[in-house]
Formats: sequence, structure tokens, C-alpha cells
Amino acid sequence: MTQLRLAIVGLGKIARDQHLPTVAALPAIALAAIADPNASLDGVASFASLEEMLRDGPPIDAVALCTPPQLRGRQAAMVLAAGKHVLLEKPPAATFSGIAPLVDVARASGKTLFASWHARFSPAVEPAKAWLAEREIRAVRVIWKEDVRVWHPGQAWIWEPGGFGVFDPGINALSILTRILPQPFVLTRAELAFPSNRAAPIAATLDFSDTGGLAIHADFDFRQTGTQTWAIEVDTDRGRLTLSAGGAKLTHDEHVLVDEKKAAYPLIYRRFLDLIARGESDVDLAPLAHVADAFMLGRRHVVEPFED
Ligand code: NAP
Repeated sequence: MTQLRLAIVGLGKIARDQHLPTVAALPAIALAAIADPNASLDGVASFASLEEMLRDGPPIDAVALCTPPQLRGRQAAMVLAAGKHVLLEKPPAATFSGIAPLVDVARASGKTLFASWHARFSPAVEPAKAWLAEREIRAVRVIWKEDVRVWHPGQAWIWEPGGFGVFDPGINALSILTRILPQPFVLTRAELAFPSNRAAPIAATLDFSDTGGLAIHADFDFRQTGTQTWAIEVDTDRGRLTLSAGGAKLTHDEHVLVDEKKAAYPLIYRRFLDLIARGESDVDLAPLAHVADAFMLGRRHVVEPFED
């Protein structure tokens, strides 16, 4: 079996927590190189930048981009231009026009571009989609509230333009919602709370609707202390379906349908390998479109400054 020679760009939290152990456990992939301005890995060729790695590094077939989102569109274009497959962390880029055209670039060069949405690989997501396909949906509520100091300590990029603020976790909820609801939906109202010293929102409330008039309400908040909540509640003609723990648990009224801790990243890498084998790409920009809409339609409120 020929191994996929992979480089990881951006050796930060998600690369260390998920990508490195997942790749180490997959015989079909060999970690060939790392690019990061301030981090390296013993025993792996390490470079200070993607440019340097592509120029001076060992032969590679694919690159996983785990950098802050502001860099990802440009880096993906560079990797495709160098003739390599690309795995994108979420969100796929900080601008729509920086990523959408790359689908055609990948197709023309016969390379794979995979915009991974890790939350979609959570165990309850596909069962929720199947369950909802056969019900009448009456209302949807999304509650995605976490403590930014716990989950993103010292990540200055998240508060910069293009860093997404509370939409960094919120887009995970939107990636699940766009997967499990049978109809597309459209943003109708957004209220965004920006700390007076930051360029990205710390909280957002959003309302969406579909052509049938379904009411979808979402609350995203980075100021949650104590219990952390990543839940989607769907009222239907057959009771309430609740997806909680970020997609690990599924409950119908009082009955638990799914409660699993299955890891998403092995599934993400298997999907990447499968797409490469089939010469295909997978780039669903629907979650990114909803976030872009929120920035366009949202009313901005200035709230108290945020200090890490
Ligand atoms: P992070 O800890 O800040 O890691 C980003 C890494 O990229 C840092 O090591 C950073 O180095 C490096 N970097 C900065 N500029 C670079 C460049 N030009 N070339 C190469 N590397 C560069 O952030 P993270 O939490 O891993 O998040 C990265 C992405 O993954 C985000 O889009 C996030 O939404 C997504 N994600 C994160 C999680 C999570 O649990 N953290 C989960 C799923 C997805 P410096 O720190 O020295 O600048």
C-alpha cells in the first residue's frame, strides 16, 4: 500500500489534540512535514512557513491546514497550485471569494479539496437527520454557549477581523443544522455583541426561516461559565428531538437514542482518503454563508471590553 505523505500546517491546539494522534494511528498516512512559525516536531521535517516547506521540504502528497482561518484561503490556493490535495480545518476560510473558486481549481488539477466540518462527524448527527426526515418540524432552537477563556485561551486571532469570534464554535452548530434539516433556511435577523476592544463578536442571536415559515432561533455566547451547552432542540409532530453535547447525544423526549464518544477525526481522515481515491472534492460552504449573512444583516451592539 502506498502511504499518503501528509504535511500539517499550523501546529496549534487542534493539530496537536486531534490531527497528530489520528494520523499516527492511520497506517495509510505518513506524517512527512510540519510548517509553523514557532513550533516543530521531533523527528519530522519542520519549516517556519508553508512557502518554505513547499520549496525546500520532502515530497508530500497532501496538506492539512490547521492555521487560523484568516490564512486558510490563501494557503489552500498555494497548496493546490503546488499540486497537492488539501484538507481544510473549519471554517474553510475567512472570505467566501477566497475559497469558492478553489473548487474549480481543484477539479481542473485533479486534486482533492476537502472542507471538513468536524461537528458533522459526531455520532448523533446522521441519526438525527434520518429521524427528522420522517417528521413534521415545528420549531428549532440552537443553544451554543461556551467559556472562551476555557476553550480558546490566548488565541488572539479569534478576536481579529476574520477570526469569527463566537462564530468559531457557532459555525459548528450551523454545520450540524445545515446537515440535519431537510430544507435550506435563510437568516432573517441577527444581533451581534462586540466587546468594545475587539473586532469580532462575543455573542450572537440569530433567527432563520425556511420557505414553509419554520422558526429557527440560535443563541451563541462565549461568556458562559459553569455548565457548557452545545445543543439543538427540534419540536416535531412526534415530540422533541434534542441533540446535545455538541452532537454526541440524541434524545427523543425522555428516550436516549444515541450517547457515544466516538472520535470525529478518524472519520474525517478516512473521508479525505476516500475522496482522494475517487478524485473528488467535498466543499459545502452553507455554514460559512450563514455566518457571512450574519455579518451583513446583523445589528451590532457594543458591549463591555473583553480581557483574556
Ligand atoms: P491555534 O492553537 O492558535 O493554532 C494555530 C497554529 O497555526 C498556531 O501554532 C500558529 O502559530 C500557527 N500559525 C500561525 N500562522 C501560521 C502560518 N502563517 N503558517 C503556519 N502556521 C501558522 O488554533 P487552533 O485552536 O488549533 O485552531 C486552528 C483552526 O482549527 C481554527 O480555524 C479553529 O476553528 C479550528 N478548530 C479548532 C478546534 C479546537 O478545539 N481548538 C477544533 C476544531 C477546529 P502561532 O501561535 O505561533 O501564531
